[in-house]
Amino acid sequence: MPELPDLEVIRENLTLRVAGRRVEKVEVRRPGLVQAGPANLSPLLGQKVQKIHRRGKHLIFSFDEKLHLLVHLMRYGWLWHGATTYEVTKATTLCISFDDGNDLRLIEPGSPQIAAVWLVDDLENAEPLKKLGPEPFSPDFTLERFAQALRGKRRILKKILVDQSLVAGIGNAYADEILFWARISPFRYAHTLTPEELEKLWRAIPETLRWAVGEIKARVGDGLFDKEIRDFLFVHGRAGAPCRVCGTPIGEVLFEGQRTNYCPNCQRVSQPV
Ligand SMILES: [Zn+2]
Repeated sequence: MPELPDLEVIRENLTLRVAGRRVEKVEVRRPGLVQAGPANLSPLLGQKVQKIHRRGKHLIFSFDEKLHLLVHLMRYGWLWHGATTYEVTKATTLCISFDDGNDLRLIEPGSPQIAAVWLVDDLENAEPLKKLGPEPFSPDFTLERFAQALRGKRRILKKILVDQSLVAGIGNAYADEILFWARISPFRYAHTLTPEELEKLWRAIPETLRWAVGEIKARVGDGLFDKEIRDFLFVHGRAGAPCRVCGTPIGEVLFEGQRTNYCPNCQRVSQPV
């Protein structure tokens, strides 16, 4: 599932391709894809893309006349950009054709297809964005606010970091990387963190994500990609492999269908839990 660093790179690279382009045709190919606005997204016809932003795990395409298309790729969704003449595959659930002979397509090769889009005119009150916590790269993400969000939370840090209402944009993979960066165990309970550890964790969030954006950019340049680029990660997806810092085999714990990877040596549980 794409997370903040993936989406940041996609946002930047898509901007080069579709900003300033006018929509000539829209085809919604899966009923249920559109969560808000007309099911055929017809208001987009004739509109020009002004800007692409990101909020949490949503990409936001802003058009003329205050029209915004929110896209959440969920588990298997990816965006494809290329010639309109290129064959539309079965997995394509949305196809937007622009005036330069190119399409932007939402493709969901896996099952179930759960990607979602919303067409809204009031971004401030758009349903999927209302409950999101602060953006890790924004000045709103202060230590005070982070400490406040964690205060009294008897939940493990892994669960805290993937909670979109506390911090936006982090998923399973980058939660593991952030905790490794901070050298804190994913199984520590939030309420047991010392003020020093809390600050270390808070700093690790934007630092890890910024590092990941750079690593992905270095690999894709201005291209798009259709699967996560994660070969540079330190712990996530590396169960059993030697830790790149200390050589200890990376550990793995599965719960609620999600895997958590960590270094049992670098991220020792040093505080009572
Ligand atoms: Zn280690």
